[in-house]
Amino acid sequence: MAGSTKGAKVGPYILTDTLGVGAFGKVKRGRHTQTGAEVAVKIMDKGDIAANEFGANVKREIFIMRTLHHRNIVNLHEVLTSKTKLYMVMDLVRGGELFEKIEKEGELDEQTARRFFQQLVDGLVHCHEKGVCHRDLKPENLLIDENSVLKITDFGVSSMRDASASGADLLQTSCGTPYYVAPEVLFANKRGGYDGYKADAWSCGVILFLLLSGELPFMNEDMNKLYDEIKSAKIKWPKEIKGDSKALCQKLLERDPSKRLSLQEVRSQKWFVVDYEKNLAEL
Ligand code: ADP
Ligand code: MG
Repeated sequence: MAGSTKGAKVGPYILTDTLGVGAFGKVKRGRHTQTGAEVAVKIMDKGDIAANEFGANVKREIFIMRTLHHRNIVNLHEVLTSKTKLYMVMDLVRGGELFEKIEKEGELDEQTARRFFQQLVDGLVHCHEKGVCHRDLKPENLLIDENSVLKITDFGVSSMRDASASGADLLQTSCGTPYYVAPEVLFANKRGGYDGYKADAWSCGVILFLLLSGELPFMNEDMNKLYDEIKSAKIKWPKEIKGDSKALCQKLLERDPSKRLSLQEVRSQKWFVVDYEKNLAEL
């Protein structure tokens, strides 16, 4: 990205510090010059957008974020442009990434893990009901606000069901981050498409495993070995995952997507329903 954007004025906002850097964009804090209200601004280079398929992805990301309205999903306020850049103005989520929390604190206690997981599933069920598959679920894309509300972000590689398409809605492109990706996504090119909803459900299984144990279910420095581990879906269960949490995790890390739970189904699972109303009311 050419030039510095720090202190730059974007519409009514002044950009200040960098909140995060991902594969596709930099995210900065923005302060409204009149009201002082703060937002997060994802900045993308128009040159990049014009040059390749990245442009279509950005348009889709914006379209998808405009479709979704849920308290567990980061809200997109507006899109601004300058000569060279495009700015997505979003809710500022102040508590950092769930990833940082686990990195710092290790595994979470069961109640805390459940509270985050309930919110993750609630947000994703909303996405799925709107025909959106996230496709890059991982703790770096799950933000926590000052009231411990979880907010899903980064719809940069998400897909939206085409209302005009007929028949099964199978995705072809494999994307996502290796540790969280479902086995059928790795097989996708050979076997035709995969169901993006069930692929999201798998990633939630990996996240649940991580929340409860502080470890990833599939971990290998060597990518080929990692892919083999995921494809085999063989798991060593740590002692923290047992009873009802293990039963749920197992039904999400089910190799066969047709047997795997959907996220709607997760909502009636024994481990999930504990304290659901109470947790929601406390947020
Ligand atoms: P990329 O597509 O490049 O991964 P993301 O949308 O995931 O971009 O943003 C990169 C990082 O910026 C996130 O992992 C997070 O740390 C930070 N970030 C993104 N959106 C927000 C937000 N609304 N509030 C606070 N921090 C954010
Ligand atoms: Mg990201």
